[in-house]
Amino acid sequence: MATPRGYENLVECPYNHIHQVENGRRFQTHLIRCRREYEKSNATKKICCPFNSTHLINEPERGLHMESCPDRVAVDKFVAPIVDSVESLHRHSGAVKMVPEYLTVDEDDWDNDQSVPAYNPQKYCEKNNIIRSCNGMQPAQRKAFRQNEHLRLGNIREKK
Ligand SMILES: [Zn+2]
Ligand SMILES: [Zn+2]
Repeated sequence: MATPRGYENLVECPYNHIHQVENGRRFQTHLIRCRREYEKSNATKKICCPFNSTHLINEPERGLHMESCPDRVAVDKFVAPIVDSVESLHRHSGAVKMVPEYLTVDEDDWDNDQSVPAYNPQKYCEKNNIIRSCNGMQPAQRKAFRQNEHLRLGNIREKK
C-alpha cells in the first residue's frame, strides 16, 4: 500500500469535499482562497467557536477550527485540574477528620461560656494554625502538641 509521495498528508477542504489539498502551507493558501469565495455569498453567516466566543468562524470551518483552536488547549488543561482538585478535596477532608476533637470541644465551650463571644476571629485563626502546624509535625511533636492542647483546654474548662 504505497502512497505516492506528497499525497500521504492530504486534507479535505471544508468548503468543497472534492478539494483534497496537501496539509501545511499549501492547504492554508487554498483555505484562504475558498474562504474568500464562500464569504462572497455568506458574509454574514458566522458562528462562535465553542472554546472562545470571540472566534468567529464560517460554519464549514467549524470542525477544522475546533481541531486547531488555540483555546482548545486551555479548555483541555482546565478540565484536568478539576479532577486534581476533587482528589485533593478528598485528601483534604481526610485531613480534617483528625480535627474535630479540637473543634467540638471549642464549640461546646463557646456555647456554654457567656464571657467568650460567639465568634472570635483570633481563636478561629489559632484553630486554623493548629490544623496547619499539626499536619507539618513529626509524630512525636504532634503528640506533645496535642498534650499541650489538652492541658490548655482543660485550663479553660477549670476557669469556668
Ligand atoms: Zn477548497
Ligand atoms: Zn477557537
